[in-house]
Parts: sequence; C-alpha cells; structure tokens
Amino acid sequence: MDVSLPHNDWPQMDPGWVWLCGAGPGDPGLLTLHALNALRQADVVIYDALVQDNILDWAPQAELIYAGKRGGKPSAKQRDISLRLVDLARDGKRVLRLKGGDPFVFGRGGEEAQTLVQHGVPIRIIPGISAGIGGLAYAGIPVTHRDVNQSVTFVTGHDQSGATPSSLNWTAIAQGSQVIVVYMGMKHAAAISAHLIAAGRDPSEPCAVVSSATTEDQSVLETTLSQMAADIDAHGMEPPSILCIGRSVLMRQALDWQSMLAGAAPRNTDPLDRGRPAEAS
Ligand code: SAH
Repeated sequence: MDVSLPHNDWPQMDPGWVWLCGAGPGDPGLLTLHALNALRQADVVIYDALVQDNILDWAPQAELIYAGKRGGKPSAKQRDISLRLVDLARDGKRVLRLKGGDPFVFGRGGEEAQTLVQHGVPIRIIPGISAGIGGLAYAGIPVTHRDVNQSVTFVTGHDQSGATPSSLNWTAIAQGSQVIVVYMGMKHAAAISAHLIAAGRDPSEPCAVVSSATTEDQSVLETTLSQMAADIDAHGMEPPSILCIGRSVLMRQALDWQSMLAGAAPRNTDPLDRGRPAEAS
C-alpha cells in the first residue's frame, strides 16, 4: 500500500541511527506523520506487543522484529532489547524502535534512549498519543474538563517486580488531583481502589475501565471506585486497559461518540448537572 506523505521537509533516516517512536494506542490513524515517515524509511522495525499489525504493513520493506514484553518481567530482557538496537545501528541499519502509545510514558523509552546514547548511537525521538489520553478520548472521556479537574495524575499500577508500587504515596495521589489515570492497573485494581478509598476518595466515585482502546476490540466499563475490581472480573475486562478514576468519566454519558456513530442518542447531555449551556461560565 502506498501511503504518501504531504509535502514537507521530512527528516531522512540515516544508516546507523535509531528512531524511538510512539505508535499511539492502536488505531493506525493516530500515528504521527513523523512515525509514518519513519516506517517508510526503516530497514528494521523493532516493535512491541501493543503495536497493531496493520501499522507494520506500512513498512513493507523493513525486517520486522518482535520485542514483546509483558509487564512485570525482569529488566534483563529490556536490556537485551536495548543492546539489540545498538547492534543493529552498528551494522549500519536504519532502525525504527516502535512502541505503543508514547515512548516516554511508562514505556521505558527513556532507558532505551539512554542506553543508545551511552553507546554512542545517534537517536531521534518521535512522541506518540498515549493511551491514558487518546484512549480515554475514544471512550468519550476528556482527561481534563473545566468543571471537574485542574490537574490529572498518571500512575502505573505496578512496579518492576509486578507489585503495586510501594513507592507511590497513595494518600498524596488521592488528595492531589481530582482525576487519576492508571496504566497497567488491572492486576491490582482491588488494591488501588482500597488505597484510594482508605486515603479518602469516595467509594461511589465514577470510574471507567477502557480496554484495547482505539482498536476494533475496544470495550468500556463504567463503574465506581468500590466496585471496580469486581466489575472488571464480572465483565471479563482484559488488559491492556486504562483505569480512569474521577468525575470526568460522567462526561461519557454525553460524549460517547462511538455509540453515537453507531446511531445511539447521547444518554445525558448535561451529566455534571450544570443546568446551563456547556460554555456558559
Ligand atoms: N507507552 C504506552 C504505555 C505503555 S505501558 C502509552 O503511552 O500508552 C502499557 C499499558 O498502557 C497497558 O497496561 C495499559 O494500561 C496501557 N495501554 C496501552 N495501550 C492501550 C490501549 N490500546 N488500551 C488501553 N490501555 C492501553
């Protein structure tokens, strides 16, 4: 398939370089043009589990190497991937390291880039749309909304050992922002809810679980903080999923644009009960 780029002074990928690039949360339309430019030039694409196959079809000339890695595995394998990138660059390849979402958001892109720099390999970084923002948008949830939150906290649900991160100050997180977006939180959803409720969050606070966001398999669960883990089980929600905790989830009642595309009417055009037009202050 020929996917031509609009006219622009696109950077050229030179042999021996590694471009570390975000592929977005799934839908190929959420790639950046820089990512497409990279796909078209790469000799090798090293991609993650969360990168969709049809995105890889846009690099028919490239050798494809799968570097799938599931959460919670030891970091040795991560280092192998980084060193593989170094070797490929030293072999004179144009290397595209393609990661789900944004490479610098819970993606260990910083470590990979640092290893490359430490080995003298030249790099370019191409950001991507992160699941915790773009994935929620596909569920009709604005990650910030003026009536709800002036800040948002992005949290990882587990640390390198696979446990709920003990270094996180759950009390500070609970009190610090009205909306909390959790990556890799499925396994520890019950513990996360318990921490947040213990720290003062309302058990009946709205939550959403967005699975395989932006893909054909996207599914969205609306629940509450206290019911979240039980509902994840009851509805068979699977990773990859984003958890969103906060009243912005209510906005989905008005903004579930995918259901509207399918012909449904909005459930409630004033889910925050403002009682006046959305933009009236
Ligand atoms: N760098 C990625 C995040 C990698 S961590 C980004 O910026 O999006 C992996 C976690 O990201 C998953 O466990 C899940 O919480 C989230 N994630 C990635 N893609 C997703 C998708 N399509 N739908 C829902 N969650 C997703």
